[in-house]
Amino acid sequence: MIAMELTDKTLFRSKSFVNGEWTSGSRNNTFAVFDPANNQEIAQVADLNVEDTKKAIEAAYSAFPTWSSKLARERSTILKKWYNLILDNKEDLALLMTTEMGKPLVEARGEVVYGANFVEWFAEEAKRIYGDVIPNHAPGKRLITIKQPIGVVAAITPWNFPLAMITRKIAPALAAGCTVIIKPAEDTPLSALALAELSVRAGFPDGVINVVTTNDAPAVGKELTTNPLVRKVSFTGSTEVGKLLMKQCAGTVKKVSLELGGNAPFIVFEDADLEAAVIGAIASKYRNSGQTCVGANRFMIQDSVYDEFVDLYAIEVASLKVGIGTDSGVNVGPLINDKAVTKVKRLVGDAVEKGAKAIVGGSVHDLGDNFYQPTVLSGVTTDMDIAKEEIFGPVAPLYRFKSEEEVIKLANDTPYGLAAYFFARDIGRIWRVAEKLEYGMIGINEGVMSTEVAPFGGVKESGLGREGSKYGIDEFIEVKYLCMGGI
Ligand code: ADP
Repeated sequence: MIAMELTDKTLFRSKSFVNGEWTSGSRNNTFAVFDPANNQEIAQVADLNVEDTKKAIEAAYSAFPTWSSKLARERSTILKKWYNLILDNKEDLALLMTTEMGKPLVEARGEVVYGANFVEWFAEEAKRIYGDVIPNHAPGKRLITIKQPIGVVAAITPWNFPLAMITRKIAPALAAGCTVIIKPAEDTPLSALALAELSVRAGFPDGVINVVTTNDAPAVGKELTTNPLVRKVSFTGSTEVGKLLMKQCAGTVKKVSLELGGNAPFIVFEDADLEAAVIGAIASKYRNSGQTCVGANRFMIQDSVYDEFVDLYAIEVASLKVGIGTDSGVNVGPLINDKAVTKVKRLVGDAVEKGAKAIVGGSVHDLGDNFYQPTVLSGVTTDMDIAKEEIFGPVAPLYRFKSEEEVIKLANDTPYGLAAYFFARDIGRIWRVAEKLEYGMIGINEGVMSTEVAPFGGVKESGLGREGSKYGIDEFIEVKYLCMGGI
């Protein structure tokens, strides 16, 4: 049905892509993909199994010697073609994404550009993977390092950014000379398959990019993390699954990158520009209907500006337009599925039961079961479940604090360490707080900070490794040391 609405209908693919071919898999099974806005089925997608996954791994392994020995410039040229094709097909990719994931079309368009930017960035970085000449430690020797691609890479990606989480992982892998198997989330395989279709047009050789769609993530994930031919696993998703994958990777000592959950504090100090803080808070919280791992999860407002901030913020939240992602002017779309809504309902229910007050929203939206009202909860305390868990929905819990010391302690009191935000003008405070927050990324007077040019990643149980920036390619490279004697 949706294929009819795309300008280029061949971007609608429902088979997996292995070794340059579209395949239904050995069992010929499929699983359904739904539009979260109305729960209507939009596709039946190939459901591959472990045997099919092995074939994809073998295809990537066979393609590796040729792909990795191409000149960096050759890989770069193909990546740039892919970048241009992604941008040329922005509207179709955005529509596909909104239909399978629910985010407002304007955000989907933004994600296509954001996702494409990683491809362009790493097309450029491909040519700058330099080794070193090390001053020798003994006469008659010369010491050199070279950098080589790690090998076959498995990328397991989530549904909240169906396109950008793929390019952010595989663009640096491909640039370095690695070959890849992508296992997209079962909720959003269509964006991944459209990317694969564009990769064919860009000229990637067979087996360099493989997409394995499946409804059995644990079994396929087990194969990807235990097969000795895979040398690197890059995962974005929940901390729970990340820990499992890391354990599974231990058996063959694979290199692992993990982008896991967060519990981002958003701190407003008394010297903040409150209007800027409100704009930052809206962007950080309600983007993607609150379904981002870097989204503000705990709002901490200093006592003396609490009431003023909350008044301003509540007005803005109440004016957000909830609706179907393809309708114009929509700010907040549906959540991904009923499981997500159930979690949000449980967290809000627990908070209200323990004394929090919903000053905006607080329940499911009239538009349908998957829609939740943009919500602001005041009087939240640390004994509530919402203080500890990633909400992944459009709910903003507010906490009141008195001192800088107190809020830093509160902000760091979590096993997570992905993103943190704070608003302040005092330069001394800005340095003190930025240095003390135990997080991989800090937004200072900023609510949105993701870009391909900067390193994305977390500390503590939020993950390992960095994506994007000049550091992103290191995750897919081995440093080899050459010691030459007899000189
Ligand atoms: P979420 O709860 O946000 O859906 P998950 O961590 O469950 O996050 O999902 C992220 C990705 O991990 C998806 O592609 C999903 O299919 C995959 N996944 C889920 N469970 C497993 C598993 N046991 N092994 C491998 N991949 C998994």
